[in-house]
Amino acid sequence: MSTVVERLNERRPVFSVEFFPPRDDDTDEAALWKAVRQLEPLDPAFVSVTYGAGGSSRGRTIRTTKRIADETTLAPVAHLTGVGHSKAELRNVVGWYAENGIRNVLVIRGDPPGDPAGEWVPHPEGIMYADEMVEMVSACGEFTIGVAAFPHGHPRSPDLETDTEHLVGKIRAGAHFAVAQLFFEPEYFLRLRDRLAARGCDVPMLPGVMPLTTKKTLAKSIELSGVDAPPELLRRLERFEDDPEGFRAAGIDAVTKICERLLAEDVLGLHFYTLNRSTATREIVDRLGLADSPVPVPAVA
Ligand SMILES: Cc1cc2nc3c(=O)[nH]c(=O)nc-3n(C[C@H](O)[C@H](O)[C@H](O)COP(=O)(O)OP(=O)(O)OC[C@H]3O[C@@H](n4cnc5c(N)ncnc54)[C@H](O)[C@@H]3O)c2cc1C
Repeated sequence: MSTVVERLNERRPVFSVEFFPPRDDDTDEAALWKAVRQLEPLDPAFVSVTYGAGGSSRGRTIRTTKRIADETTLAPVAHLTGVGHSKAELRNVVGWYAENGIRNVLVIRGDPPGDPAGEWVPHPEGIMYADEMVEMVSACGEFTIGVAAFPHGHPRSPDLETDTEHLVGKIRAGAHFAVAQLFFEPEYFLRLRDRLAARGCDVPMLPGVMPLTTKKTLAKSIELSGVDAPPELLRRLERFEDDPEGFRAAGIDAVTKICERLLAEDVLGLHFYTLNRSTATREIVDRLGLADSPVPVPAVA
């Protein structure tokens, strides 16, 4: 099987997807696995599984990632965050990943539990920044390591240049690829890619994309990107305030346009934040011609 980095460097653009581990609830579990099975034939380059703050989802992240490794043809990437963990605990989790055949890890510092914008207090025997975790995971064995990137700069960073230096620090510490936080305007991602290139960093970096299917996904995208949506996009979507189907159609059109612009700029692929659903992602992937083979996409959300 190709490694994640080999897949990202394929000559044609690829796509990848992010899931979160479902709570121990049959409905959530079934929804996730339906999405996994529906995306599998489209051959995503990898599927990543998030890690709850402070290890709150540790067991579920390991279980979900292992099941993807064991029961599907997909390449799983397990997230790992440093919040609330000592370095010894982090090494243990990395050891469990390895024992379960998981060799791709997205290494993230994480946010303080409760209030993500609150004061960051490291575990007394833990890490301060993600670059230390990258070094630690590299030292644990043969892993393909991804890190988080922020087209608008991380909210805690004083400016874009400093933020870029810190991203470069994570890459120089041993990261093999990066996945970007959400943004609405491709120029912000492309400028970050230019800033990295100017510093001699050419690891693959994927833009993060969330299908705008509902008012809730729009609000989530604004929250995660850390910026307001462009007024033109808001005006287009506001027309569908009381028309969920119209909103979904306009939102998917808008996201498809963003993706088209990124692909025209030769991005290596697109990383979809799926919220454990697949229909909208499949629709966009299909429109962009990124699927391995054309796959029928149902008309309903
Ligand atoms: C693709 C992606 C996936 C994510 N997955 C998860 C997840 O699964 N679970 C979860 O809880 N959260 C997740 N997050 C959110 C993430 O935890 C937060 O955005 C967090 O605040 C930043 O993590 P980081 O790894 O970028 O931190 P860091 O790289 O450590 O950066 C944090 C801040 O410190 C600065 N900094 C970095 N290194 C240094 C240094 N050496 N010296 C001084 N300053 C430095 C940075 O510029 C930044 O301002 C994800 C985010 C992204 C983009």
